Amino acid sequence: MIVVVKSGTPEQEINRICLELSTTWRITPEKIAGKHKVVIGMIGDTADLDPLLVQEVSPWIEQVLRVEKPFKRVSREYRHGEASEVTVSTPNGAVTFGENQPVVLIAGPCSVENETMIVETAQRVKAAGAKFLRGGAYKPRTSPYSFQGHGESALALLAAAREATGLGIITEVMDTADLDKVAEIADILQIGARNMQNFSLLKKVGAQDKPVMLKRGMAATIDDWLMAAEYILAAGNTNVILCERGIRTFDRSYTRNTLDLSVVPVLRSLTHLPIAIDPSHGTGVCALVPTMAKGAIAVGTDALMIEVHPNPAKALSDGPQCLTPERFERLSQELAIVAKAVGRWQQPAIAHV
Ligand code: PEP
Ligand code: MN
Repeated sequence: MIVVVKSGTPEQEINRICLELSTTWRITPEKIAGKHKVVIGMIGDTADLDPLLVQEVSPWIEQVLRVEKPFKRVSREYRHGEASEVTVSTPNGAVTFGENQPVVLIAGPCSVENETMIVETAQRVKAAGAKFLRGGAYKPRTSPYSFQGHGESALALLAAAREATGLGIITEVMDTADLDKVAEIADILQIGARNMQNFSLLKKVGAQDKPVMLKRGMAATIDDWLMAAEYILAAGNTNVILCERGIRTFDRSYTRNTLDLSVVPVLRSLTHLPIAIDPSHGTGVCALVPTMAKGAIAVGTDALMIEVHPNPAKALSDGPQCLTPERFERLSQELAIVAKAVGRWQQPAIAHV
């Protein structure tokens, strides 16, 4: 349930309303100041609460809205219908993910293999316009016999690539036991599709400060995904970016997964969180990546995460879906055309009025 307070309500009255709400009904009020108004989110079991009784708490209350969805903190209503932004500091400066910001490019190999390849890839993707380098140190692999990532030593290589280029680093944390060491290097922590509902991991990343990119589970509904994000916000971390990476459907003959681009407008109506699209895992086929990346910008994604490897044929993981640095450079130019057409390239778009 959300209490919308009239604009111009004195701060003291807002605090009094919060106090009365928390003492009368065992809920936790959370004050959220927007551009024009303050809303109070009522966290707790509000199922049996009569909105008319809440309305009587103060003549300054404009409206009491029931949030029909199970998620609250991630819901669009919770932020007065406005989009939130996630700003990440990198050595090259702050980068902001959000609906009214330029599309952010994240690129790099599936896994960190050695120092030369990660530093060279970082330099190439930076030159093509990427703001973040991706690369797995800890890899979730279907087979226990496949390359599992170089672990801690790969984190040091990511730090070297950051040092060489100033790019921000995004890398996956698979296990709560590794969180501190991954968070020491990463500018954004990635939660992989297979861990989307690892609730202990979600609570832990929610209780620390680094921004989180939460990938959609391969069989997750949108509600499942948003409830997973709710865990992170409920634990205190509001810097969450949602990343669509394809879901399992019946046809796996031509694509590895089915990239759900319709999720972008759907999420826009449901949540204030920024959205990223990963067309590499979303298709599993390098030839399909450019087309889907352009499509993702056209439907309004805030960021793209693309796998790039200097020699895809020799990659230790996900070679078939990796672009070469040359192809990524060309793609970046192609993306610029689409992104400029929708006002999302370099210069921030004019905010909606
Ligand atoms: C990855 O980004 O390399 C990865 C393993 O992604 P996902 O969790 O989406 O499969
Ligand atoms: Mn991969």
